[in-house]
Amino acid sequence: MKPLVINFQKCSIHDGPGIRSTVFFKGCPLECVWCHNPESQRYTKEVLYNRERCSGCERCIQICPHDAIISENGTVGLDKNKCELCETCLDYCINNAREIVGDEYTVKELLKMIEKDRMFYEESGGGVTLSGGEVMAQDMDFVCALAEGCHNKGIDVAIDTCGYAPKENYERIMKYADRFLYDMKLIDDEKHIKFTGKSNKKILENLKFLSDNGAYINIRIPLIVGVNVDDDNEEVMKMIEVLKGLNIKAVNLLPYHDIGKHKYTKLYMNYEGEAFEKPSDDKMDEIKSLFEKNNFSNVKIGG
Ligand code: SF4
Ligand code: SF4
Repeated sequence: MKPLVINFQKCSIHDGPGIRSTVFFKGCPLECVWCHNPESQRYTKEVLYNRERCSGCERCIQICPHDAIISENGTVGLDKNKCELCETCLDYCINNAREIVGDEYTVKELLKMIEKDRMFYEESGGGVTLSGGEVMAQDMDFVCALAEGCHNKGIDVAIDTCGYAPKENYERIMKYADRFLYDMKLIDDEKHIKFTGKSNKKILENLKFLSDNGAYINIRIPLIVGVNVDDDNEEVMKMIEVLKGLNIKAVNLLPYHDIGKHKYTKLYMNYEGEAFEKPSDDKMDEIKSLFEKNNFSNVKIGG
């Protein structure tokens, strides 16, 4: 299936070094409970409903040719099983309350968009970041052609990955990737399954493969009270023990935030991360010190 893109972000400064263009692909094999980009989880296009813009006129209900839109106390609901993504409701909503997320591009189109900001990459030591969703769980012919195109033009390529993809995909992309921004969430596999829907076995195997083969690995850890942060730093110490045996160039510690929470409503989804909390600044400093005491030299709080 040809990949869909949810966003092409120019001038990004949180997705690797320097100023970057980030391509966010749609579709991810994990379903992290705290995901702040829920529109990136499914591989198909989706209808987004901006409730705050909706006047409740119900024109979309009348116009939907598939009877997918339902009246719900002054707002409108969606029967996802009936929606055929025909986009008719978008044309009839004068308040632009409805939109479809997920666009198709060719490799050539993306390369052209990426090349436009080449000057910024060169001046800042930046480049392009292929992200998601999960870039490594997309059509790899497409992803490799895009990465190769950037690589051949001398543009730095970062792969932002959760690690949950076939090992062959990492083998294929390695020759074009300058760096991997590699997520680590939990070492306890039961908890990993509970909070992301999948085992971490494949993720840890792929990480070891990249390390053994000399890839530049920048580990990125979302730190969440109620998931992997506690008083005893139990999970953090487990992560440190695993990472100590690998060739890790940098670590980013990312405090939890829930700024993507509102997107769940737009997608007619429930946000299940209400009980999670951001670690205190002192706790973040404590965790950073633990990494540094264990000889990790390039440890940063934030992206
Ligand atoms: S047409 Fe737009 S404004 Fe009217 S009910 Fe539908 S979403 Fe709301
Ligand atoms: S995209 Fe088409 S099928 Fe889906 S809700 Fe809108 S009008 Fe109905």
